[in-house]
Order: sequence, then structure tokens, then C-alpha cells
Amino acid sequence: MASYRTATTGLLLQDINIGSSKLLCDTSMGPPVLPTSWTRTVFDKIHGLSHSGVRPTQKAIAQRFVWNGMKRDIRKWCKECPDCQASKIHRHTRSPLTERLPPYDRFCSLHVDLVGPLPESQGMTYLFTIIDRFTRWPEAIPVPNYHASTCASALLHHWVARFGVPVDIISDRGRQFTSVLWTQLNMLLGVAANTTTAYHPQANGMVERLHRQLKASLKARTTGAN
Ligand SMILES: [Zn+2]
Repeated sequence: MASYRTATTGLLLQDINIGSSKLLCDTSMGPPVLPTSWTRTVFDKIHGLSHSGVRPTQKAIAQRFVWNGMKRDIRKWCKECPDCQASKIHRHTRSPLTERLPPYDRFCSLHVDLVGPLPESQGMTYLFTIIDRFTRWPEAIPVPNYHASTCASALLHHWVARFGVPVDIISDRGRQFTSVLWTQLNMLLGVAANTTTAYHPQANGMVERLHRQLKASLKARTTGAN
């Protein structure tokens, strides 16, 4: 307690007579100085009422008591509180970014995606889009539905037949691209199938950017029946 008399703090400390004994009080704010041995007990009692956050706990305790470095202590104990850690949300999950090497040759690495549903034209309502990461050559194949078999056949007949088998294919986590059929086709062709990280669609950004231009021009052209 002697350290309080010499320490430079914002407190205005005075000895106040209570009965026959003297009590050191902070007269600038009002609340009494709490002996160090009691600080943790007081924290446990007040914080334990509702397990409030750092600032509300600091405020609630400061209204009743004061001690040197109380803000620091309370912050530390609040963070250490096991009940708080077990029940509160402290940080939202952020998926780690996966490093993807730039493609080294044309038609070796593709982005694929599915656009739609769009206004029907000759029974086709979706567009299976493919873009080469190296040359940025785009292909948009009209398909009647979004099934994995449709996507697989579009890839085979429109891309593989003309440009050969790619080394890897990047897609989002759509149902078609996580399906058994899609995986098996890739295995059969010896293609490394990659999906974008969950909650990070930007990784498939090249093809998503293509969609924007594609949709805009298609919309502008949908005045006719085809
Ligand atoms: Zn707590």
C-alpha cells in the first residue's frame, strides 16, 4: 500500500479516518482503494455476474473500487476467463489462401464455371464457361441443365476434343464440380481438379469476370427468340 503514496497516478489519495483507523481513499473519484489481495476476488464477483466484456467490466468495477493498474488487470483477466472463452465468439473463421502457381503453357490450366439459369434459347438455359488461364481464351458452351454429366460432356466435346487435355482445372465448389462423376472424369483424363477455397470465390475470379461481360452482352441481345 505504501507504493500508492509515491506513485504518480491520476488519483487523489488521502487518508480518511474511519472510526479509530485510517483508510487510504482516492478522493478524486470516490471509490476506495482495494488491497491487491482482494482485486481478483472482486473481479471474479463482478465479472461473474454476466461475464460482460472488458469495457463493461472495467466500468462496473471502477464504480466501486480502484487499484493501481486495474484496467490492465481487468483486461487480462477478462481475456483469460475460461467461461468467456468457451462461450463467446472471438474470431470468425478466415480460410487460408492457397498459393496457386501461374500457368506455364497455354491450355494447361483452366477455370470452369456455370452461369445461369438464363432465358431459354433452343432448350439451353445454362452456360458452361471455360477460360484458359494462360491465354485467357474463353469458351461459353450452352447447356440444357446444370448436371455434372452435362458439364463433363461439354468439357469433353467442346474443349478436350479441340484443345486437348489440360493439366488442371479450377472450379468453385458447386455441386457439379464436387460430384463423383466430375471427379472421376478428371481422374480418367489425369487432370488435377482444384476447387476454390470455401468462402473465397475470388480465386475463380478470372472466369467470374468473364461472366459479367458475357451476361451483359447476352442480356442486351435477348430481344429475339435465340
Ligand atoms: Zn467471463
